Amino acid sequence: MMKYYILFGPPGAGKGTQAKAIAQKYNLKHISTGELLRGEIARGTELGLKAKQLIEKGSLVPDEVVEGMIESAFNTTTGVEGFLLDGFPRTIAQAQALDRILSARAEAVTSVLSIMIPDEMVISRISGRAAVEGRADDADESIIRNRIATYHSQTEPEIAYYREAGKYREVDGVGTIEEVRDRLFDLIDEL
Ligand code: ADP
Repeated sequence: MMKYYILFGPPGAGKGTQAKAIAQKYNLKHISTGELLRGEIARGTELGLKAKQLIEKGSLVPDEVVEGMIESAFNTTTGVEGFLLDGFPRTIAQAQALDRILSARAEAVTSVLSIMIPDEMVISRISGRAAVEGRADDADESIIRNRIATYHSQTEPEIAYYREAGKYREVDGVGTIEEVRDRLFDLIDEL
């Protein structure tokens, strides 16, 4: 069976940074829906134009859009031991869709790896990276606050969903990049 890990956590928890190290160490394909959407925006596709308006408000793009991206990534990736999903699923409906997509392939979510940081740290980290990465959705504190609100209302309920499935694992996301990375490596090694 392939491995299907979900990297979970609020915006700014360091999912993208940690995903690269985990994917490399465990030979997983890292799929970031945020990066895929920013690619569509950069290429000026029709999907990108629609996504841009939602992303720059701090809202989510429609479930079907990201579900399609994920399924096509599953269909076109070879030569890995599994997948590391970063930024997906982000709603209960997406979590249910993922379960359907995987069960149709006789596969299942292996584990949810959650990186937890407090809301105050979300704001300071994202404001800090705004200057470095130049993302429009990082530039304005009111957009960041809206993303935090979206996370609490739409994404956080997934914790209960995956706890009930016995798949939820959490690490403390406060610390250096290396400290948090080693907590995640230990978690994966224990699974
Ligand atoms: P962050 O982890 O900082 O929130 P991402 O790069 O994961 O950043 O996502 C950026 C934006 O892209 C989100 O705020 C949202 O608008 C959109 N997005 C990413 N993944 C999804 C998803 N699974 N469902 C809906 N919208 C998404």
